[in-house]
Amino acid sequence: MRNLLVNAGSAAMIALSLVTVIPDMQAKEAYRSSVNYSLLPSYNGEDLELSHDSKSFNFKLWSPFAKEARVKIYKNGVGGEAENIFNMTLDRNTGVWSYTSDENLMDKFYTFQINNNGQWLDETPGVWAKAVGVNGLRAAIIDFNKTNPIGWETDKGPEVKNITDVIIYEMHYRDFSMHKNSGITNKGKYVALLEDGTLSLNGEKTGIDHIKELGITHVHILPSYDYNSIDESQLPSNQYNWGYDPINYNVPEGSYSTNPVDPYSRIREMKQMIKALHDAGIGVIMDVVYNHTGITEGSNFELTAPGYYYRKRQDGTFSDASGCGNETASDRQQMRNFIVNSIKYWMEEFHIDGFRFDLMAIHDIETMNEVAKVAKSVNPSAFIYGEGWTAGDSPLPIEHRALKENVDKMTNIAVFSDDIRDAVKGHYSNEKDRGFATGKEGNEETVKIGIVAATAHPQVNYKKGNNSKFAYASSPTQIINYVSCHDDLTLTDKLAISLEGASVEDRISAAKLAQTIVFTSQGTPFMFAGEEVFRDKQGVHNSYKSPDSINAIDWNQKKEYRDLFDYYKNLIALRKAHPAFRMTSAKDVAKNIVFDNVKEPNLISYSIKNNANGDEWYEIKLVFNGSDKDQNVKISKADWTIIANDGQLDKDGIGTTKGGSIKVSPRSALILARKK
Ligand code: CA
Repeated sequence: MRNLLVNAGSAAMIALSLVTVIPDMQAKEAYRSSVNYSLLPSYNGEDLELSHDSKSFNFKLWSPFAKEARVKIYKNGVGGEAENIFNMTLDRNTGVWSYTSDENLMDKFYTFQINNNGQWLDETPGVWAKAVGVNGLRAAIIDFNKTNPIGWETDKGPEVKNITDVIIYEMHYRDFSMHKNSGITNKGKYVALLEDGTLSLNGEKTGIDHIKELGITHVHILPSYDYNSIDESQLPSNQYNWGYDPINYNVPEGSYSTNPVDPYSRIREMKQMIKALHDAGIGVIMDVVYNHTGITEGSNFELTAPGYYYRKRQDGTFSDASGCGNETASDRQQMRNFIVNSIKYWMEEFHIDGFRFDLMAIHDIETMNEVAKVAKSVNPSAFIYGEGWTAGDSPLPIEHRALKENVDKMTNIAVFSDDIRDAVKGHYSNEKDRGFATGKEGNEETVKIGIVAATAHPQVNYKKGNNSKFAYASSPTQIINYVSCHDDLTLTDKLAISLEGASVEDRISAAKLAQTIVFTSQGTPFMFAGEEVFRDKQGVHNSYKSPDSINAIDWNQKKEYRDLFDYYKNLIALRKAHPAFRMTSAKDVAKNIVFDNVKEPNLISYSIKNNANGDEWYEIKLVFNGSDKDQNVKISKADWTIIANDGQLDKDGIGTTKGGSIKVSPRSALILARKK
């Protein structure tokens, strides 16, 4: 009912009207509000906007509504008069305007301008700029061969057999390197990750050496495309932003480069960073925000094909499922082409290994399946995950949305589990609310939903789930588990506020327990950078434009919380060494995971049995005590190795036991293993 697309009768009329001139603004608006977008011409060539060889430069702009279109050539990225203006011609079959120049335009800048119903709109770099000048106002014509670091031809990310083998570390450029204690020279820059041998003021490894020491497999970097909120011409003012306001989707952000005025700098330096991570065996995941743009009227989408790329409500206003003023229309062919080809471009040109889709449910299922298919065809190790929800209502029907609940209609796509997140630590936005790991009763069944990665399990009652009421995943490969990310309070802040009055030691115990649940659960674990040094954000929930004093990680804390860092490092090593935590089928999970019958609140005890997923351990026993008192559990008589107990963890064992009644300390995990 909320679908804006009209019935077939009026669609036929519109198809006919495509090749006619539409007389006035009102008629055009009426036309657009009733348009059947599926009948518009589209173009899926990868040469849109600019392609060139040594002799000619070809401009192609998809803009089926425009009355006229032209290209303007400039000497610089800002200022000055156009050196040349080229008028373009329309191919009505594709909706593409084109012009070919035989002049040498290398290292020039360009914009497009369209005549929309008699009015020339503002100039735009287009939607397919691959290089830009400062602040992304004009596209740049560059020689991409000059952007490649030495050895780029053979550069490759780590091989990934199953997404459940991946350990994700979510990081922002500035958070990671800005602090005065980071020991890093190129603070806040792509090339910060090229610096090895860096140390905190008090002597602990920082930078890329820190990531290697921790042992994660993939860095997930907050938005890296060119975004709007930072003035790249005023970098000394040290602005901070998460970057969820895209302008140029196919160009790296300039403020993370050493020289945003030089179009080569941002591209070359981002590639250098990716290569440095790849050389360290670490993959790179990009956070992509195709679901909305930073500005609406005047965005590059609106300036190239007004009205096409965004969904609207029936009253003609922009719909806003992103909560940021607009939402894009992936269900329209040219927007779908745009997303799919953009993903392909980042993989081929920048060697990106995986993508995290912001507010993925604003996109339709068909588009997401196409994205995953193309990504896998470029690199079989690639993977896609996203937020399976929207921030507001959308005209896109629920059954078409790439929602968490629809994950089973998608192939090779995973969704974040808000089930485990909220059940373990308490509600994400209600800061005082506590969860399983902080002693609040009633979260046990939802934690179990997290442990089995939202797959059907005979001992898990989904009716008792806090968030989801059914087993929405048919494979653990569809689930990303986490207790903290860039959004909302850090785990450190959440524990400080919800466990008011508790000692630092108690809060650290709760943090260890929370992450132990995440990292031993089926699915793919995800952590927010800096949690391993107990990083806080001084209680700020939404730090998207907070200063570095809130967001930057103080690396001196690594020494202060060395015990916590070592615990997480060992936890990651445990997961990597044992495939039992990384099963790939729901059938295996249902067969190999056996929950013990415990009655006490805030207590979960279960086994992973049968040398699950080829594990050398026949049985792993996991007991989570989220209460603030000791709990005694009965363990079957056998020769057990103690892997974790009372805040200590080592995959090679910290002791042995014959089983029987074992005490589990408050807010801690007990992990035992036996080979037979
Ligand atoms: Ca920018």
